[in-house]
Amino acid sequence: MVRFENVGLRYGMGTEILKDISFAIEPQSFQFLTGPSGAGKTTLLRLILLSLRPTRGLISLFGRDALSLDKAAITDLRRRIGVVFQDFRLLDHLTTYENVALPLRVRGKEEASYRAEVTELLRWVGLGDRMHILPPVLSGGEKQRAVIARALIVRPALLLADEPTGNVDPSLARRLLRLFTELHKSGTSVVIATHDLALMDQFDGARRLVLGDGRLHIFD
Ligand code: ADP
Ligand code: ADP
Repeated sequence: MVRFENVGLRYGMGTEILKDISFAIEPQSFQFLTGPSGAGKTTLLRLILLSLRPTRGLISLFGRDALSLDKAAITDLRRRIGVVFQDFRLLDHLTTYENVALPLRVRGKEEASYRAEVTELLRWVGLGDRMHILPPVLSGGEKQRAVIARALIVRPALLLADEPTGNVDPSLARRLLRLFTELHKSGTSVVIATHDLALMDQFDGARRLVLGDGRLHIFD
């Protein structure tokens, strides 16, 4: 699903943040991406999303050489990836329901074709009674669940989440993680970047991709 071969990345003229990274993400797999703050977790996720190009190495995505694709092909591949990133915020002038439905609207779908599905997903993340509310009125945890629902509404083959539990209390963090594990059981590959060791320990046995000193160590 994702394959990196000897990937290196530097920003501008700086030192290499990522050095000689090789790994694969298999279909229907679940993994944590971890390492200290500044280790390059976000950078690695942005490389997978093709929003950043490596300075060396090969990246393939869904079986295609990702570095030789044109813009239209990249857009097409990105549509198969759900993203929960800090900078992908909710739009404050749209209701929770409208925010979650937005990826379907921009794909040109009619509301009648997705209304039931959006409603069901909002109930699944525990926002059934918050659907018609604007994001500024939601709590931090509710916002985070709405962002996750918006990433899932397109039924992505791959979900990338960057510190999805960064701003929530430990009990909500566990609930969010349970949502991700259920998603994995339904067939999606899940990559969760986090430096929350306590949280990972509760999901013992999950594969860990650990970044440190620019290198990746894999614990299956
Ligand atoms: P993490 O997500 O593990 O905290 P990041 O991928 O955000 O790590 O950052 C890795 C390193 O790259 C850090 O030293 C950070 O300061 C640097 N960095 C991140 N983005 C940029 C950028 N756009 N330009 C220059 N340096 C950057
Ligand atoms: P959580 O711990 O789950 O994030 P909070 O304790 O922050 O929840 O909020 C509890 C409830 O109060 C939530 O239903 C939330 O929508 C509501 N709430 C939080 N902030 C505001 C606000 N500024 N205006 C109205 N309601 C709010």
